[in-house]
Amino acid sequence: MAQIEDIDDALEAVPAREAGPVVIGIDVGGTIVKMGVVTQRGEIIAQTKVPTGALEGAEALGRVSEAAVELARGAGVDTASIAGIGLDVPGVVLEDGTLAMAPNITLDLDGLRDALAAAFPAARIATINDANAAALGETWVGAGAGADSLVMLTLGTGVGGGVVIGGRVIAGVHGAAGEIGHLCMNFEETEACGCGRRGCLEQYASARGLIRLYREECATCGAAEVEIAHATDALAVFEAARSGNAQAKRACERLGTILARALAALAVMVDPDAFVLGGGMCGGWDTFGQTCVDAYRTFVIPGCAETPIRVATLGNAAGLLGAARHALAALQ
Ligand SMILES: [Zn+2]
Repeated sequence: MAQIEDIDDALEAVPAREAGPVVIGIDVGGTIVKMGVVTQRGEIIAQTKVPTGALEGAEALGRVSEAAVELARGAGVDTASIAGIGLDVPGVVLEDGTLAMAPNITLDLDGLRDALAAAFPAARIATINDANAAALGETWVGAGAGADSLVMLTLGTGVGGGVVIGGRVIAGVHGAAGEIGHLCMNFEETEACGCGRRGCLEQYASARGLIRLYREECATCGAAEVEIAHATDALAVFEAARSGNAQAKRACERLGTILARALAALAVMVDPDAFVLGGGMCGGWDTFGQTCVDAYRTFVIPGCAETPIRVATLGNAAGLLGAARHALAALQ
């Protein structure tokens, strides 16, 4: 009897999984692939990470699909019952799932899809750009949960973006919708952006951009620079700002101001329910967030002045959750 009670207790302890499709969200990065088994309510019931090199060739691609199979089995889900797989990739993805450009990764996307299709015969595979996936994830179960429309900026080594309208990411005819990092903020810029143009938001609001703003501030007044360990060591600037360094504080204020100008421009294009800012640079939100919010209210047309500007809440899981949401949407 005691044993039976134990079994009943054990069964109660495992939450009953809701009915409905279960999908796998896969966040493909240059050095690591993150994946999770996700329910239709956005709950991750199991997740794992696979370190990767170049994602091409049977061995490397097989490692990813095998990890997904192990993950599903570990979660007690039959591979044949996985209804969809969402793949988020760091590149320009067209509406039909074609990868138009992926400058930062070696990826045989067709080969990866084939390997996954062989392992998950019932799964429909849907592909989405990584910044768009993060926006979709945050709209689903993150900082924008409940919003119908949202604009997200991912501030990291570069600046990515995603626009969600009516619960769906807008990819655009050429996959360029949401490439907010390449919104031109400065027509007088002389240095080139990674995209080849000049004056892009990414040149100021990325980790590299903030360091550049800081160095400009130091050069203007002849101040000595604090030690910056590497080209994307924005943390050094944030810490200097927190400790009262005037040039670092000024650089962070300029970062907040330029972000506000970008958000004000986006407000008159999309007028979303909310803006969400994510990525590693948000670790310095305390140094530039208030400036950003205050400046936004000054720059934007009055009707949009109260649009909330929030920091993302899903962290590294935003991509795989957004990929899963994209996979679920593709099933409908
Ligand atoms: Zn650019």
